[in-house]
Amino acid sequence: MTTKKTAAEKTTAEKPAKKAATKKAAPAGTAAAEPATAEAAPARKTAAKKAAAKKTAPAKKTAPAKKATPTKNTPTKTSATKTSTATKTSAAKKANAAKKATAKKAPAKKSPAPKPPGFAKRESRAAMVKRAHAINEVLAETYPYAHPELDFEDPFQLLVATVLSAQTTDLRVNQTTPALFAKYPTPEDMAAAVPEELEELIRPTGFFRAKARSLLGLSAALRDDFDGEVPATVDALVKLPGVGRKTAFVVLGNAFGVPGITVDTHFGRLARRWKWTTSEDPVKVESDVAAIFEPSEWTMLSHRVIFHGRRICHSRRPACGACPVAPLCPSYGEGETDPEKAKKLLKYEKGGMPGQRLKPPADFPGPPAPPLGG
Ligand code: SF4
Repeated sequence: MTTKKTAAEKTTAEKPAKKAATKKAAPAGTAAAEPATAEAAPARKTAAKKAAAKKTAPAKKTAPAKKATPTKNTPTKTSATKTSTATKTSAAKKANAAKKATAKKAPAKKSPAPKPPGFAKRESRAAMVKRAHAINEVLAETYPYAHPELDFEDPFQLLVATVLSAQTTDLRVNQTTPALFAKYPTPEDMAAAVPEELEELIRPTGFFRAKARSLLGLSAALRDDFDGEVPATVDALVKLPGVGRKTAFVVLGNAFGVPGITVDTHFGRLARRWKWTTSEDPVKVESDVAAIFEPSEWTMLSHRVIFHGRRICHSRRPACGACPVAPLCPSYGEGETDPEKAKKLLKYEKGGMPGQRLKPPADFPGPPAPPLGG
């Protein structure tokens, strides 16, 4: 069995030899020994005296000099230490440089969405109400021309258009109603319509059979119970076929000037994003928001919020980077924050495109919507 020394063993074995060599090579009184003055100087004097007394200097007499050996070796050791220290310092510097380089090269951690200045995470009810009013002011400045986005000329047309707007866009309703109202201008006319003909006219709005049933039913109720007039109360309106609270408030607010909050999909989404409510229930959203604002604000607030939801604060990709409400919004960062990319997400007149109404109010800054197929 052959015994092979490992590298470590070899190194260990070599060390004593080197030490011995060093001791032998360390001459007494060399320049290298000069720093060891305190001990070495008396040692030399003693040795000289003894040498004078005895011609042959015993080896023992060199013993004190041997004491200086470590001192003689000191420069070597110091040099080694210096070299070692220098090496260590150099290595440390390299390590630091490497760390810095790594830190620079390391991919940036995905930081949470930036919050705009001025928004407090935990806010009191009073602060939330104050912020809600500030948002309403910003919206009023942004959309001074906010209006109902359904084309209508009287309460009956608005009621019909609102019923048709379920599950479709106001634009599609506005493109559909001109032909409908041309054929059935009054509740009496519509109540007498042939169902299939009515269905065909409103087909572009989707769910046309159910909607036709609602229109026939509410027209007959208006004719029979209200002398052909649209009633101006919530209680009476919600009893009409196909009419819920949202439709009732749209009609009341815009055809009769009665304050009402319209909680559609946009209004509910934005009220939650702004922490005005936490509820998904439209009736609860309505009461939460009603507790924040004066009734005189309700109708226009509804238009502004819905305008904002359609144009900037979209459901899937809100254009946060182009949003005037951003400094007041707890949900800033839910959408695109890059200003240039956000601008491309803007819709209707904010994005330079036509609005939803074929007959928009005179102060509407965008182009009117095209007719059906246009
Ligand atoms: S677009 Fe962004 S910043 Fe503006 S209201 Fe919506 S979530 Fe808030």
